[in-house]
Amino acid sequence: MTRSIVWLKRCLRVHDHAPLREAARRGPTLALYVYEPDVLNAVEHDPSHLVFINQCLLEVRDQLRASGSDLLIRHGTMPETLEKLHGQLRFDALWSHEETGLAATFERDKRVRRWSDHTGVRWTELPQHGVVRPLKSRDGWADRWRARMQEIPLEAPTRIEPYPDDVVSSVHRGEILKPTELGLPESEKTGAQVGGESCAAALLDSFLHVRGENYQKDMSTPVEGWDSCSRLSAHFAYGSISIRTAHHAALTRATELKGDPTAKSWRASIASFQKRLRWHCHFMQKLEDEPEIEFRNFSRAFDGLREEDLSRWTEEDHAQFIAWQNGLTGYPLVDACMRCLKRTGWINFRMRSMLVSFAAYHLWLHWRPVAEHLAQQFLDFEPGIHYSQCQMQSGMTGINAVRIYSPSKQVIDQDPTGLFIRRWVPELRDVPDEHLPNPELMPALTQRMANCGIGADYPAPIVDHAIAYREARAKIHEARSKPEAREEAARVYEKHGSRRRPSRSRSKR
Ligand SMILES: Cc1cc2nc3c(=O)[nH]c(=O)nc-3n(C[C@H](O)[C@H](O)[C@H](O)COP(=O)(O)OP(=O)(O)OC[C@H]3O[C@@H](n4cnc5c(N)ncnc54)[C@H](O)[C@@H]3O)c2cc1C
Repeated sequence: MTRSIVWLKRCLRVHDHAPLREAARRGPTLALYVYEPDVLNAVEHDPSHLVFINQCLLEVRDQLRASGSDLLIRHGTMPETLEKLHGQLRFDALWSHEETGLAATFERDKRVRRWSDHTGVRWTELPQHGVVRPLKSRDGWADRWRARMQEIPLEAPTRIEPYPDDVVSSVHRGEILKPTELGLPESEKTGAQVGGESCAAALLDSFLHVRGENYQKDMSTPVEGWDSCSRLSAHFAYGSISIRTAHHAALTRATELKGDPTAKSWRASIASFQKRLRWHCHFMQKLEDEPEIEFRNFSRAFDGLREEDLSRWTEEDHAQFIAWQNGLTGYPLVDACMRCLKRTGWINFRMRSMLVSFAAYHLWLHWRPVAEHLAQQFLDFEPGIHYSQCQMQSGMTGINAVRIYSPSKQVIDQDPTGLFIRRWVPELRDVPDEHLPNPELMPALTQRMANCGIGADYPAPIVDHAIAYREARAKIHEARSKPEAREEAARVYEKHGSRRRPSRSRSKR
């Protein structure tokens, strides 16, 4: 009989949880969640993340108790917390999922590994998602992803053997702690999604059967995208549902829809969703394979292109960065997205790209502080996806097309009647639709009639789109055309590029 601790990190569920299943098969098992100062104090952390985590923990604890086990909660550093617990519980094995995280959690995992080697407590890390550790080559990665996803998701253990009473009776279970109890401010995100396995399951079900029919068509607009997107990202980020569970549910739904002549839109939407589940792991794999991308450009040929050191920023850089953060750029869709994020922690993919593109190209700001701010704003902050995407949308990979969005054109394309803009930027509530792309061009009389004086009630644009676009385009294309940039692009592609055709279809030709 092996006595185990299952260390829950970004896998706050009991279903499809391989470490929990494996530990429970071998003997008495308790789960552990640790509020770690390194994680709570990371620049990317926001109290809203903790609120979501706590909601997940509440459910996990109830489910574990119902099966005979329990959840221990601690606040402290690792591995010191494990050491103390080991003194009380004398466990033989530690189980967890592999984590593709920030440098701080990577370093912590190395410390835990040393502790486990030293004490003889066997630490087994099992894969979560489709990230492969270690990965020698990107060739054939999609096939490996598919093979892993094809495995049937694991049921939650129905009965878990408890630790002997005499061992566990004196051990404090620990409390779920609110942000303020951990020295953090309250979350400002009063409209954020709720965590927990039951919410994740309900979202998946409503997406696949009710909300998702027009997903493919609507995903880029912040208006319809709000309901048409799956909204599962925070649940994937904290593991209140596994990618494999979502993948199987999507497969089942796709099978149901096969041959139905009225379900064309549904089929296209489910296929798009399935593709994105793969992207989730594809992007995380990049950080797994090259952890340095948390701090360094994918393509080293672009080092120095933008100023990273905030102390060397001009006053104008700082002022523009603050305006961008606070939704006061004078570009209505940029501002609406920022204000929406501040309250809810979610915005759709296209709008995220536009926010980064605006900061990177229009304001020519380095992606690192931009990414830090957005990480705090996104309830679904997932390091591997986030840092890869922020770099990609800033043009730092050298292998993706350069996309400089026109924030005014995006209004016409994605929010032509201003439903989203008016909700989040009330100063623009009475501005006629045709002026929403560029409110600064409203004649004085229209401004008066719309109760929106430009420069008084709503800012004039902090940067001229046409000039900024032209300059940014010239700079990025010049940088990309250098021989060292081409060499770096080849290296980046070899290491991280998605092989468009999975090897299976390649071998068929
Ligand atoms: C600058 C930037 C930063 C981003 N940061 C994050 C982040 O920290 N965490 C995060 O989960 N997503 C991030 N994304 C990707 C994407 O915007 C979100 O996953 C998506 O908007 C979440 O909404 P959803 O769950 O309704 O997604 P859906 O459209 O319903 O997609 C389903 C799932 O697929 C995955 N997915 C979808 N699009 C992408 C994508 N482009 N790349 C990788 N995975 C994808 C997500 O896990 C998502 O939950 C970022 C995108 C950009 C442009």
